[in-house]
Amino acid sequence: MPRPTKRVRRAERSSIRVMFDLAERHDGDLVRLEVGEPDFDTPEHVIDAAARAARVGETHYTSNAGLPACRRAIGDMLAHDHGVEHDPDEIVVTVGGMEALHLAIMATVGPGEELLAPGPTWPNYEIQAHLADGSFREVPMPAESGFDLEADRVVEAMSDDTAAVVLTTPSNPTGRVYDPVECRAVVEAAADHDAYVIADEVYLGLTYDGEPEGIAAHTGHPNHVITIGSCSKTYAMTGWRLGWLAGDGHLVDRVVTVREATTACASSVSQHAAIAALTGPQEPFRQMYRAFRERRDLVVDRIAGIEGASCPRPEGAFYAYLDPGIDDDSLSIAKHLLEEHGVVLAPGDGFGESEPGRLRLSFANSMERLDEGFDRLEAGLKTY
Ligand code: PLP
Repeated sequence: MPRPTKRVRRAERSSIRVMFDLAERHDGDLVRLEVGEPDFDTPEHVIDAAARAARVGETHYTSNAGLPACRRAIGDMLAHDHGVEHDPDEIVVTVGGMEALHLAIMATVGPGEELLAPGPTWPNYEIQAHLADGSFREVPMPAESGFDLEADRVVEAMSDDTAAVVLTTPSNPTGRVYDPVECRAVVEAAADHDAYVIADEVYLGLTYDGEPEGIAAHTGHPNHVITIGSCSKTYAMTGWRLGWLAGDGHLVDRVVTVREATTACASSVSQHAAIAALTGPQEPFRQMYRAFRERRDLVVDRIAGIEGASCPRPEGAFYAYLDPGIDDDSLSIAKHLLEEHGVVLAPGDGFGESEPGRLRLSFANSMERLDEGFDRLEAGLKTY
């Protein structure tokens, strides 16, 4: 009997997906707070630029690394908004942040090597490490300090087998923005181990308190940092599948060679859309940013009003990592909330070894729906 490889068999369906499927099959009115994508549509000027490009025949393969104008636009934005300096030939335009991560992990982690991530963390990294025939290890961060990055704990967990550490800031699922000093300490330790830091900064443009600074911005070891970014979240462009990877020239050359045999290039039309998003009018994106920040404030207020509940303050992205103050497993709580109260949250156990009962709430939804969702959540937690 033929069967898929071990590396494919190892990938498990996450409890987040279980909730998503249950919600899709449900025929009542649900408030969906489990999904991780902006509820806004892509702004008109971006769509116009893509349509224009398609009409004038920009519908062919581009070079494997991406259109020079797109790489320049990404480089300028990284330097201007995040303090990260790269020449265009150190940047690869990818099929979303997801392909950028896949390429980065394939290029840095191999058999007998491991990828580390401070937890709680996004589940896809583990699957991607397995696809690279490597292993994955979560290094849990303490709940008492809001799951902030504590470099010492990561450094202690590193060994000769550590090939890369992924740092996600702002974090999915906690919304925390890691302290740059702690990030730099991890980069230094990675350099000592001849390892890489993969800086997953797909949410960096959605930083609400303070300036969004890239991990590669002030490090003495820029060659050890691979910066991952995307148009998906900041520019409301999830379906365009447009992201990037930026790193040292040698690594980028190898990555470009590999991707010649996988996706070849990101969509030409999406690359034109990205150029418009990055270099065109910014006001539509600022409006979305302000809306997310207002919702963040609403979420913090509403959680403070639920007896026994708490969450680390979301400083970026659009997630709150809720501790409902109930000692049970998170999937059971999430199912109760969906089935009895019509509100959908992602179970916290999908994000690693957090304490039982945590739930991830996405505030990529309107203020009205969020308020309604919180009414249901409050009622649901009372009756659990
Ligand atoms: N990194 C994190 C932490 C994410 O949450 C996501 C998407 O949810 C991605 C990367 C990839 O996003 P995309 O491939 O849409 O750019």
